[in-house]
Amino acid sequence: MNDPILENLNESQLQAVRTTEGYVRVIAGAGSGKTKALTSRFAYIVDRLGINSSNILCVTFTNKAAQEMKRRVKALIGDLFDVSFITTYHGFCVRFLREEINKIHYPKNFIILDAEDQKTILREVFTELDINSKNLTFKQVLRFISKQKSTSDYLGYMLENKSFEPDEKDSLSSRVYQKYLDKQKRNYALDFDDLIHFTAFILDSNPDVLLKWQEMLHYIQVDEAQDSSDSQFHLVEILSRVHQNLFLVGDPDQTIYEWRGAKPEYLVEFDRMFPDTKTIIMNQNYRSTPNILKVGNHIIKNNKIRVDKDMVTDNPEGVEVVHFHGKNDYEETVWVASEIKEILKTENAAFSDITILYRSNHLSRNIEQALIKENIPYAIFGGVRFFERKEIKDVLSFLRLIVQGDNFSFLRLHNHPSRGLGKKFMERLSLLAGEQNLPLLQALQHNIEDKELGKKGAADFLALVAALKTDAETNSISDLVKIILDKSGLSELYRKDGDEDRLENIKELVSSMLLLEKENNGPVNIAEYLQEIALYTDLDKDTENQDKVRLMTIHISKGLEFPYVFLCGFTEGVLPSALSIKERRKRAIEEERRLMYVAVTRAEKRFYMTDSEGFNFTTGLNKYPSRFLFEIKEEFYVRKGKLSAEILQAAQSSAAASKSSEDTSFSEGDLVQHPVWNKGKVLSVDSEKNQYIVHFFEMGKEKPIDFAFRFLTSAPDAQEEISSPADLLQLHENLKNAPDPFEDETGKTAINQNIFNDKNTDEEQPKW
Ligand code: ATP
Ligand code: MG
Repeated sequence: MNDPILENLNESQLQAVRTTEGYVRVIAGAGSGKTKALTSRFAYIVDRLGINSSNILCVTFTNKAAQEMKRRVKALIGDLFDVSFITTYHGFCVRFLREEINKIHYPKNFIILDAEDQKTILREVFTELDINSKNLTFKQVLRFISKQKSTSDYLGYMLENKSFEPDEKDSLSSRVYQKYLDKQKRNYALDFDDLIHFTAFILDSNPDVLLKWQEMLHYIQVDEAQDSSDSQFHLVEILSRVHQNLFLVGDPDQTIYEWRGAKPEYLVEFDRMFPDTKTIIMNQNYRSTPNILKVGNHIIKNNKIRVDKDMVTDNPEGVEVVHFHGKNDYEETVWVASEIKEILKTENAAFSDITILYRSNHLSRNIEQALIKENIPYAIFGGVRFFERKEIKDVLSFLRLIVQGDNFSFLRLHNHPSRGLGKKFMERLSLLAGEQNLPLLQALQHNIEDKELGKKGAADFLALVAALKTDAETNSISDLVKIILDKSGLSELYRKDGDEDRLENIKELVSSMLLLEKENNGPVNIAEYLQEIALYTDLDKDTENQDKVRLMTIHISKGLEFPYVFLCGFTEGVLPSALSIKERRKRAIEEERRLMYVAVTRAEKRFYMTDSEGFNFTTGLNKYPSRFLFEIKEEFYVRKGKLSAEILQAAQSSAAASKSSEDTSFSEGDLVQHPVWNKGKVLSVDSEKNQYIVHFFEMGKEKPIDFAFRFLTSAPDAQEEISSPADLLQLHENLKNAPDPFEDETGKTAINQNIFNDKNTDEEQPKW
């Protein structure tokens, strides 16, 4: 048989491809050929059934995954077909709204707000309401807005001017929300959430439009269905009501967006909603070597809220998974760079076969430095290079202005933060500088008496530069950065700004300088430092040559595969993320573990995990290997680098302590057993005060119980073994009372996880 569409499919895949009618779901582990089945099914429907490709909607979660799906479909049916309906949820909504938004009297050329635009709006609102980040951060408020939009009827207000009251209507967040909506309304601007909600609104309130789209979309397929949210699922569900052909594909173990509203229940409970559902299970993995798969299977087994399923593979054994432990992060990343060179030499591989994954964007800095040093070309997927981030550039420009007094830095900084030095000022200064053949800074010094230039802001700026020059003589570079931030007003600006990532990134810059000073055993020369940094920023121009190592967060890597994968920064507090755990406790741990599972299962031939010792300047703690490392049997990987007995022991006891706190950490709604007061229910979790508020049934009272109180255990009837899908369903029932992933432990305001992928955040916002 020579059939490019059906050959190379296994029995389950063939079944998935040929079962084109009705409600069908595929539940299977990573690398089992789910996406392959889905793309082959698309091709089959077009090529074998003769359905026009524009009658099939095929959605997935990220832009990158959608591109990959298009590529696979085109490889099967050629370039001639319209594959524009292979897209993301947001992509589909944009397409829909361009055609239908006039139904709600919005112009076709409505504005779409990206994360930066949202921040621009918030900046205005914060100024108007005189709020700074001490009261509220952008992340918090964006999270609040997103949640409000998913639960309240804000569209009546937006579209029909109906009065509306957000939850907690007097809170700061809700005042910001109100103004944010007003600004959106005035500009006909939609944010990412609106794209989905507006689409659903138009469909729900215009039966003729709904019918038109329902009739058009004969087949609907959803990949990565475990990460669909309520509104996303609602969308595909109503669209499928006429032809009733809805195909869901997913892996509950890869749910990594629960914190943003993903509801894996839709996939798991699909057969309850549609009793005729056909379920197809796949358990053969085609992607990874048995050695890699073993590690993946092993990690995910530690999750309690899941249905057990082991993946098997016929792939050759391959080489062992490697854990490298470095003495410091420099050693860690240098080792990665040298291993990359080794792979290239011995495996006949290209740079582009290699991918480096990490938990959050700021971790790329170390890796980038090592790659540059070793002349290894790289590209960052879904993020901005560390040294190109605005706040980093601001600080580096100040350093450069101090030592070099150059015009670029002057232009960037003289009115940043604002000193009232506008266009006229710059015109006059440029004129004089040209006439006198001086750099701008010197020209200003010479002409400060000039009528147009002699402004308070100008004098302040000169005084600032002079003071910093003096500071530079007596302070280390890391201290100097802190002084710059304070004296220049940048620190205050970023803080007011509410954009915490900026401060986080600067902390990371300072900690890298501290390390450098330590390595140097003394002060670092600013001019030399800047020259090195200049190399880091210039490299990005080389975009033509695609043979580059890829750097990305684990979130972005979902659905993709790479021959060689390094997971860097495999450090406790990083993966699992201390912040997520603080915010969402037990549920976060399981989600972090799923992230680890996603990372491992991206690898085809080799998988490396690396970590290093030292001090984490962000968490203020010593660095130890991730607790997840100790969940993997030692015989499943080889260790390289020196992990001393002391560190190993300290790490293991820290992992054991975390593990026990994991087992004894509770979420809202959990039933607990107290040694004296017996059974109780956790009413809320107060992370600020590190305590639960527990209602004890026997005494009928609420008590604050410390997180660290080890005698508090799960009530026996809350610990159920999960072994079958029916159990999982029951568990989901139980979980319905658990805290909403959007809510923090106090249940009041939203929290610090960013819901949008801006340039400096960790998770990818789906794009079209
Ligand atoms: P993930 O859960 O990570 O999204 P997936 O289940 O979607 O994974 P695919 O990406 O479809 O898995 O497939 C993984 C790899 O296995 C791909 O390289 C694919 O080409 C290959 N593959 C899938 N099915 C088969 C098969 N029947 N025979 C050979 N190779 C296959
Ligand atoms: Mg897939």
